[in-house]
Amino acid sequence: SAQKILVVGGAGYVGSAACAWLLDQGHDVWVLDDLSTGHRELVLTENFVKARAGDRKIVLPLLKSHAFDGVMHFAAKSLVEESVQKPELYWENNVEQTQALIEMMIEAGVKRLVFSSTCAIFGDPKSAKIDENLPKNPINPYGKTKLEVEKLLETAVTRGLQSIALRYFNAAGAEPKLRAGEWHVKETHLIPRTLKASALGSRVEIFGHDYSTPDGTCVRDYIHVSDLAAAHGAAMNKLQNLEKDKGFFGAYNLGSENGYSVRQVVDAVEKVIGKKISRADMPRRAGDPPVLVSNSEKAKRELAFKPKHDLNSIVQTAWDWEQKLKKGIRRAVFLDRDETINED
Ligand code: UDP
Repeated sequence: SAQKILVVGGAGYVGSAACAWLLDQGHDVWVLDDLSTGHRELVLTENFVKARAGDRKIVLPLLKSHAFDGVMHFAAKSLVEESVQKPELYWENNVEQTQALIEMMIEAGVKRLVFSSTCAIFGDPKSAKIDENLPKNPINPYGKTKLEVEKLLETAVTRGLQSIALRYFNAAGAEPKLRAGEWHVKETHLIPRTLKASALGSRVEIFGHDYSTPDGTCVRDYIHVSDLAAAHGAAMNKLQNLEKDKGFFGAYNLGSENGYSVRQVVDAVEKVIGKKISRADMPRRAGDPPVLVSNSEKAKRELAFKPKHDLNSIVQTAWDWEQKLKKGIRRAVFLDRDETINED
């Protein structure tokens, strides 16, 4: 049946894809976002509140007056290298704002939360496939902030909070109807940067070529953003079925279970766009572990998680989305983005 869901960070990349999915399921979707990295154009509902996740003046009355069935929380800073440079910013934004949100939820009696976590909490696990039980030793501040929030969620079980942390591997691709996709003013992610390099006729930079991996570049597990969105729906349904006020915490690793090296991803982009892209070997980027590939058996079992999109479909939708951005959700913003990228 229809749920009323507050999507915190719903103007961002994964959050807006989740909104598209929730709206398709007939749910009543509300978005809270401070638009620090998200975009008003990606808010897919009329029900929009501009504020930070932990803003008591705005969020507490919102939670108290709406009887939300649950909250999905995507709002975070999520760039590994930036987190190495600005750890305090990451702590304040990701941990302290979320802690305030959790407190307000409990106070308002809204006790179901699906939280965006990350495989970065595992650090450099040196395991072929990463399952939920491996030790959590984040090697960058970003991963540390997400692990800290998971601990807060676990602690809040005794106060009746029912939460699920979804640990994404590398979110990628665009929502197939192109309502949501990657749109970062400073683009750091491999697939959009490769598409961009191709469009500008510049070289794609490959950060690190001497890792202990088959071709020397980092191996990642790319998972389509709409497959992640569906997993959020399944997680929220699982929470709705729990006995009310009985605290719960669960965590799931979400990936395709396939690893691709940076070079293999650039190859896949070349195949989709039918054009060679020249490459430049660059030094390693701070905070990057060599290999991160998911074991998602638990999510398959308990959330009926079944990724529909392979790497080719991820790159194809990302490419389609780039065309849409270029034509202009708002053309001026796309030009801003080009200018920012040229500064790199
Ligand atoms: N990467 C790269 N060139 C780029 C962007 C990224 O070589 O222009 C590498 C990066 O060092 C990492 C992988 O691609 O090994 C995935 O990086 P991305 O930023 O897309 O995601 P992350 O793994 O940091 O979440």
